[in-house]
Amino acid sequence: MDNKVLVVEDSRAFRNYLQNQLTNLGYEVICSESLAETKTILAQERDFFCTILDYCLPDAQDGEAIDLVLDAKQKVVVLTATFNDVIRERFIAKGVLDYILKDSMSSVSYLIPMMKRLLNNKQHHALVVDDSKTVRRHVSQLLEHQYLHTTLAIDGKDALQKIQDNPDISIIITDHDMPNMDGIEMIREIRMKYSKNELAILGVSSSDDKTMTARFLKAGANDFLVKPFNQEEFYCRVHQLLDMKEATSELYRLANEDALTGLWNRRYFFSQDENTSDSYQRHIAMMDIDYFKKVNDTYGHDGGDKVLTSIAHILRLYFADAVVARFGGEEFCIQFCGEYQSFINRLENMRHRVENTSIPFNEDSIRITMSIGAVKGEKKRMVEQLINIADDRLYQAKNSGRNQLIYQ
Ligand code: GH3
Ligand code: MG
Ligand code: MG
Repeated sequence: MDNKVLVVEDSRAFRNYLQNQLTNLGYEVICSESLAETKTILAQERDFFCTILDYCLPDAQDGEAIDLVLDAKQKVVVLTATFNDVIRERFIAKGVLDYILKDSMSSVSYLIPMMKRLLNNKQHHALVVDDSKTVRRHVSQLLEHQYLHTTLAIDGKDALQKIQDNPDISIIITDHDMPNMDGIEMIREIRMKYSKNELAILGVSSSDDKTMTARFLKAGANDFLVKPFNQEEFYCRVHQLLDMKEATSELYRLANEDALTGLWNRRYFFSQDENTSDSYQRHIAMMDIDYFKKVNDTYGHDGGDKVLTSIAHILRLYFADAVVARFGGEEFCIQFCGEYQSFINRLENMRHRVENTSIPFNEDSIRITMSIGAVKGEKKRMVEQLINIADDRLYQAKNSGRNQLIYQ
């Protein structure tokens, strides 16, 4: 499905404003100013990502446009100038996504992030854990209504298995009282492996036990909601958890990625978990561009940057399955798990590729070479030691005329 949004609003200023904001988010916006025009549009197009509808239009003063669009099986966000509890309940029950009061700018500053949330939801996978089939279905329908992909689990044990089978799960909505393994015990298990930033958990329970909220949060849930819950509150909590998760991922990326090349940086390289059983098979290569200073002197700093991004591209191409990091300046490091000889062969092929590549820059084409030092991973050898050895071999490669790979 594409990202078409229908905006039905008779105020031209407000319509234009929404169109602008939504276009900036990446939506394709189709506008209508009346019920009649909306009918014409729906006759041709019924595959909207979402629709945003003004409750009161000149030719439909009592929400008729909303019924029309809901009947056409489209997702609806209602905009209204006056708050009315009865109407709000009626439309929430009919399945509108949200009901927003347009009395101030703050309502728009709620609507736009919500529309951004909906777009991003398509990238999330939610796990719904509950022993009641009815609750499972209800919660997953709410989530899927907002474009979250969902998987179901019938108890804590089943959930642990589903998490293992679906590594892309990013949020869990879980009950407490369940056979085999309850919610709190399941959360404790999950937290041994995944932090709150990696996997968001929303506890939901109808238990009368006043300590339940605290028990859930102390076990490692990110948030808690008492059942039965209000749909709007449920959505707000889920949105908040996903917003937080995306913000943390972005921070992690900024802290661990090299801004120029998009490769990992030195910090990421040393923060990796070394306690895995195959760590002795992690081979290391250190590499450095030859006479890079001359590139900068001849073509300027921009020319140098172009060389760095082109080299990063080649490294990624040859070592998509390895950890490739820019260590600083024009120095790169690769950590490879697998057979040592195949690592050496690939490094040699890559060195040839670099040597034979012309990097276009303005009217010029830049040629460069690389020197490489490689070392075989060994039991009991720390990454730091391996890097030192690889570095010594890189130094030897430089002293023996550059453009070569030294290894043992
Ligand atoms: P060698 O063959 O011995 O490695 O010589 P070299 O000239 O490649 O090495 P040297 O260490 O003398 O110079 C590296 C240069 O890389 C110096 C520095 O200005 C430049 N440099 C470091 N980071 C960047 C960057 O991000 N962009 C650009 N364009 N240049 C950079
Ligand atoms: Mg239960
Ligand atoms: Mg160099």
